[in-house]
Amino acid sequence: MGKAIGIDLGTTNSCAAIVEGGKPRVITYKGGQSTIPSVFAINEKGERLVGHDAKRQAQLNPTNTVAAAKRLIGRNYHSKTIEKVKQVFTYELVEGESNEVLIKVRDQLFTLEQISAAILRKIKEVAEEALSSEVDQAVITVPAYFNDRQRQAVRAAGKLANLKVPRVLNEPTAAALAYGLGKNLNQRVAVYDLGGGTFDISVIDIKERIFEVIATGGDTFLGGVDFDDRIMQWVLEGFQKAHGIDLSYDRVAIQRIRDAAETAKIELSSVMRTRLHIPYIAKGEEGPMLDVDVELTREKLEELSADLVDRTVQTVERIFREAGTTKQQVDEVLLVGGQSRMPLVQRRVTEFMGRPPSKGVHPDEAVGIGASIMAHSLAAAATNDDVTLLDVLPMPIGINKVDGSMHVLFHKNERLPDYKTRTLTTSKDNQRSIMLKIYQGEQNICADNELLGTFVFSNIRPAPKSKVQLEVTFHIDSEGILNLTARDKQTGQTVESTLKLGKVGEEKKKEPEKKPEAAPPVAPPMPFTMPQSTLAATTGKAEPKAEPELTKTVSRAESTLTERAEAKPTEEQAAEDAWPLAETTAAPTAEASLWDKVTGWFKGLFG
Ligand code: AMP
Repeated sequence: MGKAIGIDLGTTNSCAAIVEGGKPRVITYKGGQSTIPSVFAINEKGERLVGHDAKRQAQLNPTNTVAAAKRLIGRNYHSKTIEKVKQVFTYELVEGESNEVLIKVRDQLFTLEQISAAILRKIKEVAEEALSSEVDQAVITVPAYFNDRQRQAVRAAGKLANLKVPRVLNEPTAAALAYGLGKNLNQRVAVYDLGGGTFDISVIDIKERIFEVIATGGDTFLGGVDFDDRIMQWVLEGFQKAHGIDLSYDRVAIQRIRDAAETAKIELSSVMRTRLHIPYIAKGEEGPMLDVDVELTREKLEELSADLVDRTVQTVERIFREAGTTKQQVDEVLLVGGQSRMPLVQRRVTEFMGRPPSKGVHPDEAVGIGASIMAHSLAAAATNDDVTLLDVLPMPIGINKVDGSMHVLFHKNERLPDYKTRTLTTSKDNQRSIMLKIYQGEQNICADNELLGTFVFSNIRPAPKSKVQLEVTFHIDSEGILNLTARDKQTGQTVESTLKLGKVGEEKKKEPEKKPEAAPPVAPPMPFTMPQSTLAATTGKAEPKAEPELTKTVSRAESTLTERAEAKPTEEQAAEDAWPLAETTAAPTAEASLWDKVTGWFKGLFG
């Protein structure tokens, strides 16, 4: 049997760790480094490069070098986040058939799962070499703020890399495990995680071996790269002022400036001033090549990025409020993520909390170490010690109402695992299918949240309207991953359901003139939009077979439904009262127990 490792799949760097002889340790690579850059590239010879090799050639090959791909994983091409990154990323993003993001590298299209899998494969390979043993299992960490779709994508990447992924673990929980396990603590900690691309803050209660997340939140678009961007903008402006040349259109120059900016930023965590010297960046008007050659002080960097650090502190305040905790009730703040090494971050956190952060965790290694602890605990079954992880849902999950707003099924910070049951009723005679769109996010309007997927319940038995009632159970497991099942209440039979991730045309606003004048004579499967119709309807004749057809039909029907919503308010109003018909609050089943017990092993782990 192969070994089980923990992997911190970071935006900029990834790190792997293993528990051996009862102690966790980071797996180091040939050169002694403990992290590998999360970078993928194809060079001009067509060779695929991952990690240090890919990063090394990034400046010369920026359009075919994929960095920070974690920021894109599981996202809809039309989401605001993708719009933002398109402006700063040097590689090309392309829209996939289901609105997913694809990356074009040397004319080949890759899914985000494939890119992440390439990085995971590299980590697996390096770990196998370092351990002289096969590695076939990994607990992979994700930001606590990742939604269901992003978690699923990370799982899929693991599978593509030939790794069994027994658990996707939240990064702050992993850090808390690394900090607190085996110390018999009774503490409330806040994990402040400022990495390359994301900021997470979680409040976690540690009671000996129970790690209970009280609240979590963050900003998926705030991280080290934003600090680099600030320096980069400053360099670009300075260069334009000095030489009248705008370098922002030159991808190679941008990549070189970005690299120099990051290096300078990291240096300024330990020194007060540094120099950015990038030779031969552009051709001057008079002919000779020009260099970027500027001095950057820590003070200037702090001035350029103070608002970013302030944003993290505001998020901390908000999450504390949501957790119902005061700063005085928080015993320790753990700083993790490379960017938390910045002195300004440490100063602001100290100012806010009224005391310095803990020195008990290594900012770069804690998450990987925690993941390895979890991997080991899941792999080593038969011991008497248990680790109990109690997690919460990072963002609400819900379905759309007719006015486009979200009906929340699961609230933010609800304890996981959890489940809810709703009853759906057919609204047309012989209705054969029902479609349900599920969203996750904190905005009131569904379109502003992430579409997790579209569930289509099909082959519903023909019956007069409202004579079929489907009991739909929404189950979120302990990793925050959603599953749906449906049962015909009258017959007790399970109803077939298909999940379509990121359905066509979701985030795009439909042009009214494209809508059909009237509903087609035979209605295709229609989406469920709450509470406008009791449920989506079809006569059954238009039941599509092939998947792409289904997606198209669904998309067409959506316009029809919207049209009707405007045309027949009274009919819909009645439906509003009918929904939800029932909400079950039965006791959780064994699998849906609140206690996510993990068989532990770790007696004397920290020795
Ligand atoms: P992570 O995702 O945790 O690996 O964090 C990587 C981010 O931390 C990158 O943006 C790095 O530039 C940044 N970083 C790493 N070391 C330092 C440092 N000493 N000072 C400031 N930022 C750093």
